Amino acid sequence: MSHHPTSLNLPDVEREELPVDVLLVGAGPASLSCAIHLKRLLEERGMGDKEILVIDKAKEIGHHTLSGAVMDPRGISDLFPDWRERGFPVISEVGDDWAEWLRPGGKHWTMKGPLCPPQLKNHGNLMVSLNQVVGWLAEQAEQAEIMIQPGFPASETLYEGERVVGIDVRDGGIAKDGSAKANFEAGARVRAEVTVFAEGTRGSLAKQLFTRHALYAGKNPQTYGTGIKELWRVREEVGREMHGKVFHTGGYPLHAGGYGGSWVYGVAPDQISIGFVVGLDHGDASLDPHALFVQWKQHERIRPLLEGGEVLRYGAKTIPEGGYYSMPKLFGDGFVLVGDSAGFLNAASLKGIHLSIKSGMLAAEAIADALQAGDTSAQGLARYGELFEASWAKDELWGVRNYRQAFASGVSTGMLDFAVQRVTGGRGLQARRPGHEDHACMQSAAQAKLEKPKFNDADSMDKLTDVYLSGAIHEEDQPSHLLVVDPTICVERCTAEYGNPCQHFCPAAVYEWPEGADSVVINASNCVHCKTCDIADPYENIEWLVPEGGGGPKYVDM
Ligand code: SF4
Repeated sequence: MSHHPTSLNLPDVEREELPVDVLLVGAGPASLSCAIHLKRLLEERGMGDKEILVIDKAKEIGHHTLSGAVMDPRGISDLFPDWRERGFPVISEVGDDWAEWLRPGGKHWTMKGPLCPPQLKNHGNLMVSLNQVVGWLAEQAEQAEIMIQPGFPASETLYEGERVVGIDVRDGGIAKDGSAKANFEAGARVRAEVTVFAEGTRGSLAKQLFTRHALYAGKNPQTYGTGIKELWRVREEVGREMHGKVFHTGGYPLHAGGYGGSWVYGVAPDQISIGFVVGLDHGDASLDPHALFVQWKQHERIRPLLEGGEVLRYGAKTIPEGGYYSMPKLFGDGFVLVGDSAGFLNAASLKGIHLSIKSGMLAAEAIADALQAGDTSAQGLARYGELFEASWAKDELWGVRNYRQAFASGVSTGMLDFAVQRVTGGRGLQARRPGHEDHACMQSAAQAKLEKPKFNDADSMDKLTDVYLSGAIHEEDQPSHLLVVDPTICVERCTAEYGNPCQHFCPAAVYEWPEGADSVVINASNCVHCKTCDIADPYENIEWLVPEGGGGPKYVDM
C-alpha cells in the first residue's frame, strides 16, 4: 500500500480500520443520490447487507454545500418520482424569468419572452436551498439505513498497487509545528470495495486521481468560474415584487472582458439570493471575483433592490464550467467520480444539481452490477461510462459541448458560436473546441487593469465582513491546509511577474501581502473551501489540502 505525499497526516500511527463495501467521499447531491439508489438496487438483488458509508468534511451535512439555486426537477424526479409527496424542500417555483444586459452608467437592456436566451428560461424549474436539499437527501439516506458520518475529512487515498482501496481520514489534534497535541486523534482508515469520489468542485483527492490514473488523457482541461453568493433580507416591496422571479445579467462590470454574469432569485417573500460568477480564464492578474460582485451590486439596476435590506449570509465556490469535453474518465480500479468532481454541470443553463443527482444514480447502477459480479476493477465499473453515454445527462451536455470554450475567444465570438451551436445540435463553428488550463491564461502584472470598488457597510461589504457571514471557522493551531509548495516562487518570481494574484482572487481574504512583507500571510482560518487558489495560481504553487474535521464555512439556507 502506498500513500500520496500531499497528506497532512502523521505517518506511522495506528489507525482504526473501518471496512465497508462502498464508501462515498463527500455528502452532496451526487453522493447522497448514489448512496440512496445503490441501497435500493442492492436490496432488490438480495444484497441489502452491503455496507454503504457516506463521509463529509463538514461538521454537519450541508454546511459545505452552496448553490444559487434554481434546480431542474429532472434529476430528483428520476430518484424519487414522488418527491413532492415526500416533502422535498422547494422554496418556490419559478414563475417569471428574464435576462438583462447591464451597461455602464447605470443603464440596462431587458430581454424578456422570445428575446430571453433560451438556456436562461427557467419556467417550471424549482428554487431551492442546496443545504436544505442535501439535508433532506441525508434524511432519506438515513431512513434507508445508510451510514453518514460528518466531520470526517478524507485526506488521502489508499492504494493496493494501482487499485484504490479506500481513504484515510485527516488526523485531528496536530499542532501548527506538526507535533501531536494532547487531543491528538488519528484519522480512521476506511477500506472499501468501491470508493465514490464526490468531493465537489476541484476535489483534493480527485485531483490526485486525475494525474495518477491519467483520467484527463484526450480530454480538455476543466475550466472553472468562481461564484460569489449573498442571501439578503430585502424591503417588503422588493420581496413581494421579486418572489418567485428569476433574472440573470451579463455585461457590467465585465463588459466584454471575460466570461461571467450574475443571478437574482426571489427565493422567499422577504429574501433574494444574489450572486456573481466570473471565469477564472479571465487573464487579469488582479482578478478579484468578490470585487466584481461588489461593483455589480453598486450598479443602478441592482443597488435599489438591496437598499434598506440586510445581508444574511455569504459564500463562494468554484464551478466546473468546461462541460462534456472537460469531463474526466469517470471510473478506474476500485473507484468512480460523480457530481462536480467529475464536471457534471451545464454552464449554458447554469445548472448542475440535476446532473449531479443523475451521475450518482448512474454510478450506483454500475456499482451494484460490479458488486454482484464480484468485479470492481475499472473493467467491472466501466458500465458507468456506458450508462452515462446512453443517458439524458449526456444528451444535455452534448447539446452544449462547445459552449464554454467558445467564450475563451471573447464574449462576441462566444455569442456568435452559441447561436450557431443552437442550429447545429451543439456543434457550433468547430467540431471540438480546444480547452485551456485557467491558470495558464494569466497575463503579467503590467497588463492588469481591474480595480477595486469602494466598500461601504450598507450593500458593499468588504471581504472580511462577508467572511464573517460565511460562518467560516477552523482550529487555528493546525498545519495550514493551504500548502504553498515553493514559497521562494512567491517572492522571487510572482511578485514581479504577476503581482501576487492570490491576494486578489481569494474571496475570503486568506492571502495577504502587507506593505513591506517578505512573504505571504495565510489566514487559513478564513477559508471557505472554494478552491479558487488551487486552480488560479499561475505557478500551480498552491495545494488545497483538507483541514481538520469540522473546519470550513457554515452554510445554512444557502
Ligand atoms: Fe478559496 Fe483558496 Fe481562498 Fe480558501 S484560500 S477561500 S480555497 S481561494
